[in-house]
Amino acid sequence: MSQNLPIPTPIDKCYPWHTKVWQQLMKQHENQHLPHAILLSSQLHAGIEQLAGCLAARLICSEAREDSACGKCRNCKLFASGSHPDVFILEPEEDSKVIKIDQIREFVHKITLTASMASCKVALVRPAEAMNRAAANALLKTLEEPAGEAYIILSSTEPARLLATIRSRCQQYAVEPAASAAVEAWFTQSGQQAEQVHPAMLAARGLPLLAAEYLQGDLLDVRRNVGIGYLKIARGQADLMTVANSWVSLKQPLVWLWLSQWMADIARTSLTGEACKDPVSEAVRKARPNFPLETSLQLQSMAMQGWRSQEGPLRQDLLFEQWLLQWAQI
Ligand SMILES: [Zn+2]
Repeated sequence: MSQNLPIPTPIDKCYPWHTKVWQQLMKQHENQHLPHAILLSSQLHAGIEQLAGCLAARLICSEAREDSACGKCRNCKLFASGSHPDVFILEPEEDSKVIKIDQIREFVHKITLTASMASCKVALVRPAEAMNRAAANALLKTLEEPAGEAYIILSSTEPARLLATIRSRCQQYAVEPAASAAVEAWFTQSGQQAEQVHPAMLAARGLPLLAAEYLQGDLLDVRRNVGIGYLKIARGQADLMTVANSWVSLKQPLVWLWLSQWMADIARTSLTGEACKDPVSEAVRKARPNFPLETSLQLQSMAMQGWRSQEGPLRQDLLFEQWLLQWAQI
């Protein structure tokens, strides 16, 4: 989900799970083979925008040391302040969830007309899937032949949703899912207690920055309460509309993600007979031991649609109600 992400400062480092792709990019850059249209993709909550920002910083820096921007030169300082004239950030504006054609047109106009202060111009398109069809089409020609020395860096957690014509014009780099053990080690090296890291990683299903978010606030309690809410409906102890309304005030994409994860767990258990590691899923499994596989898959799919609906005009309270109604009917 787009939310006008901060621009990483040039001295920010990539995350450990970015290293492989980063080294590949740096090697191509060193050999002057870095493509001008770059699509970086990863699973959710893996900090792909951070990687894109680090790359932009490295390209714009005039005194870069090996694979890192210096953080001190004029280009780095302007980049960090968000006012570098050769850096273009294309992301949904505050009141919108999509990148609009007007934004792309303005960018295409500026990139061809203005002179460079740095040795190149860099555009960050984030998240790339937020471009609507018209916006994506308007970017095609520039992706193919950017004016002068320019790099267009797209980042996406859902590259399959991009137009095929966009994907085919970019060189694609996929960040592989981070190995849980490596992420847990990274957390403990950063001073987190191992006994807290493990449950956060389990609840985050290995999504590293989601686990980091869980470790910082009360989201694990919120998650548990969402689980309790729909379990109460199954037991006839709670009112469906009250529960749906209570979810609207929470971080809605996360609620949908959790519902999807729990239903995936239930489906897996139906197939394998194994107990769920997640305590909420295990409680659901015990409360409804014969939950039909088909329904759990259907509910998982509804949850994913709800997650995507954040970009549309649909009312979230009604979508939560529909989901809970389907859940309650079994
Ligand atoms: Zn610099």
